[in-house]
Amino acid sequence: MKNNHFPKPDAGIIELTTRCNLGCMHCHSKSTLESDADMPFMAIKKILPEIKKIGATRIAVLGGEVLLRKDIAEIIIMIKKQGLKWIPWLPMGYY
Ligand code: SF4
Repeated sequence: MKNNHFPKPDAGIIELTTRCNLGCMHCHSKSTLESDADMPFMAIKKILPEIKKIGATRIAVLGGEVLLRKDIAEIIIMIKKQGLKWIPWLPMGYY
């Protein structure tokens, strides 16, 4: 059954990792370098088309510090291939 009562989402959000080299006291995800909670690559690969399918045109990737992932370049390429626009983030809270 088609649901016409809800608008399409404008953007999706995925949290790629809870690893971060700063470990701020106020961190919403309690990210530290010791964390091993990365979203699995295959889960990201599976969810990106679903985000696109429900109508989102943009995506925000959050952490933790996403640049600590060795596969971040592949993830960015997958996002581009899906035609999703990247919502810029502030790595490690600096800008
Ligand atoms: S820089 Fe951001 S992600 Fe890293 S510990 Fe601090 S608040 Fe958390």
